[in-house]
Amino acid sequence: MKNYNELIVLKTFDERLDYLRLFSNVCENTFGGNRYFNQKFYMSEEWKKIRRNVIIRDNGCDMALEGYDINTKHDRIMIHHIVPITYDDIINHSPKLIDMNNLVCVRYNTHNLIHYSRDNGSFEYTPRFKNDTKLW
Ligand SMILES: [Zn+2]
Repeated sequence: MKNYNELIVLKTFDERLDYLRLFSNVCENTFGGNRYFNQKFYMSEEWKKIRRNVIIRDNGCDMALEGYDINTKHDRIMIHHIVPITYDDIINHSPKLIDMNNLVCVRYNTHNLIHYSRDNGSFEYTPRFKNDTKLW
């Protein structure tokens, strides 16, 4: 099982992205048809608290990588479940939902790459460099 402790050992952006990358067929269960349950969960006080803790731990950095600060003026911090959650996880309140070792901060773009990009390059991507948020 992938997890945060393994992720943070990786030194570069690309290594972390490769580690986290999913294939869209894996996450169909996550977002198909069950938005109501997802939203209910993401609105909960429990989630908001965990979300805050993850942002603090990761210093608001993309994939928790130092120097890759997510500029919240132009971007959104998203909390990604490293092992995706399913409808059943939400119904059964699986520990996976709020396990800090299953959560990491990512920016919106990176989140799309993790979930939807494939190796055929169907997703456009601007590579990030250390401290490049200053340019935006
Ligand atoms: Zn995600």
